[in-house]
Amino acid sequence: KMAKLVDSKETIAVLQRTNFQFKKQFGQNFLIDASVLDHIISYAKIQKEDLVIEIGPGIGTLTEALCEHAGQVIAIEIDDKLIPILEENLAAKENFRLLHQDVLKVDFTELLKEYPGFSSVKVVANLPYYITTPILLSLLEKKLPLSSITVMVQKEVAERMQAGPGTKDYGALSLAVQYYSKPEIVQEVPPHCFIPRPKVSSMVIHLSIYKESPVECENPEYLFKTIKASFMQRRKTLVNALSAGLSLDKEVIKSVLSALSYPENVRGETLSLDEFAEISDNLDPEWR
Ligand code: SAM
Repeated sequence: KMAKLVDSKETIAVLQRTNFQFKKQFGQNFLIDASVLDHIISYAKIQKEDLVIEIGPGIGTLTEALCEHAGQVIAIEIDDKLIPILEENLAAKENFRLLHQDVLKVDFTELLKEYPGFSSVKVVANLPYYITTPILLSLLEKKLPLSSITVMVQKEVAERMQAGPGTKDYGALSLAVQYYSKPEIVQEVPPHCFIPRPKVSSMVIHLSIYKESPVECENPEYLFKTIKASFMQRRKTLVNALSAGLSLDKEVIKSVLSALSYPENVRGETLSLDEFAEISDNLDPEWR
């Protein structure tokens, strides 16, 4: 009773039988590697107590395995042509629910109210790469009761999520992800593990969501404004970037930085999340 759709011959048979045409604009690259699939399932530690949300089920490759392990699976797919295929491939699964929708328009808070019995909600997906960042940021920022997110993303994006201060990959995405979760790269996945092959390498990354962020910060919303402003113009010093992005007087910023003992020419790329929180709390006009 092992996952069968992940077999490349089986995937090709489904695609031919249903006369499916790949749509580039939907980032469709279907997984055909069983060991990668097993890794995702075991890393996400899916159990019968879990409600799993899958974004972009494709023909149901990952979905099939998720249904075996989870209590309930809700899959969200945008492509009309995949809906009947999914309904057929997963017809035998009683714990499967399919939503034909654009994931960016789903009201997750409302959706989760329909499933009060689950102690743990996990997101598992081989994401459509063109909207990776908006999907992840909206899941994190809505403060949903998620315990983890395990996703396949473009390799460069996984590296940005994990990056620390002072490295070339460090930026607003690293800080947002690390404010809400502890990221761990599970494995790199080469293009030949998919049909069709993507042009880039991929990575599976696992985010364990904090119940409460370890970062002490009075106003997280202002923290994220500060972070965005400081990475908007990477070449500028922090003073100039924040003055432009937060509409603050340069002298005010300089005096806050100097009171906190930062050099006047400090750059955002070198600041840790805790340092950003300290600076933003002191700049926040509500508290100043
Ligand atoms: N899970 C399948 C697998 O691993 O073989 C397919 C993964 S494929 C990389 C991404 C999937 O996301 C496709 O099925 C695509 O149609 C779907 N998708 C793209 N944009 C979407 C959106 N805005 N909302 C929901 N699903 C979307």
